Amino acid sequence: MTTTHTLGFPRIGARRELKFALERFWKGEATAQELGAQAAQLRQRHWQQQSKLDFAPVGDFSLYDQVLDMSFTLGNVPERAHSHHGDALDASLHSYFRVARGRSQGDHDHACGGVHAGEMTKWFDTNYHYIVPEFGADTSFRLDTARLDEQLAQARTLGVKAKPVIVGPLTYLWLGKTKDGSDRLDLLPRLLPVYAELLAWFVTQGIEWVQVDEPALVTELDARWQAAYASAYDTLQHSGAKLLLATYFGRLENNLALACALPVDGLHLDAINARAEIAPVIAALGQDKVLSLGVIDGRNIWKTDLHATLEWLEPVQRQLGQRLWIAPSCSLLHVPVDLQNETALDPEIRSWLAFAVQKLEELRILAHALDHGRSQVQLELVENAAAIDRRRASKRVSNPEVARALAAITPQLGQRASSHAERSLKQAALLQLPSYPTTTIGSFPQTAAIRQARNAHKKGELDAAAYEEAMRGEIARCVREQEALGLDVFVHGEAERNDMVEYFGEQLDGYAFSQNGWVQSYGSRCVKPPILFGDVRRPQAMTVKWTTYAQSLTDKPMKGMLTGPVTILNWSFVRDDQPRSASCRQLALAIREEVLDLERAGVRVIQIDEAALREGLPLRRGEWKNYLDWAVESFRITANGVADETQIHTHMCYSEFNDIIAAIAAMDADVITIETSRSSMELLDAFDDFSYPNEIGPGVYDIHSPNIPSQDHIVDLMRKAATRIPAERLWINPDCGLKTRNWEEVLPALRNMVAAAHTLRAA
Ligand code: GLN
Ligand code: ZN
Repeated sequence: MTTTHTLGFPRIGARRELKFALERFWKGEATAQELGAQAAQLRQRHWQQQSKLDFAPVGDFSLYDQVLDMSFTLGNVPERAHSHHGDALDASLHSYFRVARGRSQGDHDHACGGVHAGEMTKWFDTNYHYIVPEFGADTSFRLDTARLDEQLAQARTLGVKAKPVIVGPLTYLWLGKTKDGSDRLDLLPRLLPVYAELLAWFVTQGIEWVQVDEPALVTELDARWQAAYASAYDTLQHSGAKLLLATYFGRLENNLALACALPVDGLHLDAINARAEIAPVIAALGQDKVLSLGVIDGRNIWKTDLHATLEWLEPVQRQLGQRLWIAPSCSLLHVPVDLQNETALDPEIRSWLAFAVQKLEELRILAHALDHGRSQVQLELVENAAAIDRRRASKRVSNPEVARALAAITPQLGQRASSHAERSLKQAALLQLPSYPTTTIGSFPQTAAIRQARNAHKKGELDAAAYEEAMRGEIARCVREQEALGLDVFVHGEAERNDMVEYFGEQLDGYAFSQNGWVQSYGSRCVKPPILFGDVRRPQAMTVKWTTYAQSLTDKPMKGMLTGPVTILNWSFVRDDQPRSASCRQLALAIREEVLDLERAGVRVIQIDEAALREGLPLRRGEWKNYLDWAVESFRITANGVADETQIHTHMCYSEFNDIIAAIAAMDADVITIETSRSSMELLDAFDDFSYPNEIGPGVYDIHSPNIPSQDHIVDLMRKAATRIPAERLWINPDCGLKTRNWEEVLPALRNMVAAAHTLRAA
């Protein structure tokens, strides 16, 4: 019999119950007990949904983050977060949220207990963010089983066939950072006894299999890390628990032999991303180990082609017999919970999709077909094949006009007529900007009034004309404020946009939207990625009327504001029936039309945001070039069809540019605005070394913080910047959009920014 299991399940809840429970707790509207009860209820529901599987994960549920959970289990809790709360349960919960988000219930500000939160960063190449473990030379570890104990006890009561899930010791170290320059790998000898103790404890709890997540094995590891893997698992092999070493998100490549040789009882391989490694893994694994194959895509929302899967899986099953396990490729954390709740989705498109619950059903069908023959699940297979065929043949998916446009792409399409040096002279003559020109990144505060108007409009309580009137009012206010501030290049403020990707997706052919397709981004924060299902076409102009309206209110240049193709792609669920690069080029052609329409409408400055360009980088460096090539090409297609006089801006809200500076230069935007304020301009080193040829606006105002930067501070930052970039190429702007701030914070901050520009110009 084929064993079925999952590596993890979404914990936020189909209706985001966990999010709302957390927020109630943080606001002091719910007790720790109430939060705990809601969490237990969710776990119970999720185990029920997984009850047809041979094993259900335990310990994958988290109140905030599974890596932070592991830090607590290993007793690696930063000193600053320790709570002196009398009650032990409450105390650990409070310190947990202090690390997670800087404060817990009742910590109002720095004065009464707020601390700086743990750093957050992307979980491999996903959109999930984890709390980075903090290490130092004197970090020590101590086992704390409280969380796992509670979840295992609950699972036992409910009769769940429990397979505990933990982050493995090497991946745990790999994910963390040292604060004192010491080497985190040196901590391994101190860490392993705690892991050994944990595994032994699982055995006392009646556990047979433990899933040990080691996704670091799909990244490039040097010889030292590889050797550490070998010695670590040598040490852990005698615990008495059977270990399933879980790898996912990519191929093992040069870690394949190592992963297969480790003294564990089973290996999980992502058969979606590493299909080609199945044969070599089987050959290297030996006769005794279990091979768990991730046969269903845990990162996307499309139905699995069950026939196609069985075609390659059946021979593997004949070869492995009982040793074959099957699962989704990775934890289902990265997909929405249940398609059942999508009542408003177009029925045709809906019939092509599978969310977490539907993926479990696919897994069951596959296992049944393997064990008893396809004929035993014929009905299900026929239905699946019909859906796959309908999608393949759908006129809504492929549009010959788009295919023709894609085939007609030439290098000239992404090439501006002249070099930046020549363009900048023409732009300067036209725009007449002072030195150190000031601008903002696009959005101004999304006030309660704006959100209310949009909700009312969505519900049909506010008709289109009234909604548009309200948005025009907001735009007019935004222009007035910028006039009063004396900024140089204006924005319309993006009041009409709910989200920088969804707003464009809603107006493009080829996109669909779920109502409840929430995926956890970090903590209680969820995103609802739009679903890119078909060829992309822009039926009509998307932003021109708003921008030209805003321009009509002022003589200052008004920036047209667009989201770039790479960012739209990286923040969507994308097609699996063509390469990402093809989808990206389609988006590029559609946004290019918008750029050209804006130019025709007299807009002289156009900003194309690529906030997510960097996060699309593949896990392995060897694949970066290919990604950056098509990403940069897509941006160039979008942006570079304009006349020399039209100034193209791009914006990226992060600060790690060292690795991608050449690609950014190749985009050839006239101006790039970036996030720098928190790194106090150090990241400009990247631009300096490469002698970045175009203009740069290094952010001087950290918009994530309510703090208002002083004029002096901004002048200092810009003087620092001017030591690296010639002053005539510098702009002054905030780090990012201002939508999450309120006007009371924004106005004084921008006032100081403009005053700083005057100081610098006078010097
Ligand atoms: N133009 C967008 C804004 O100002 C950019 C947001 C972003 O980069 N994340 O909100
Ligand atoms: Zn930004």
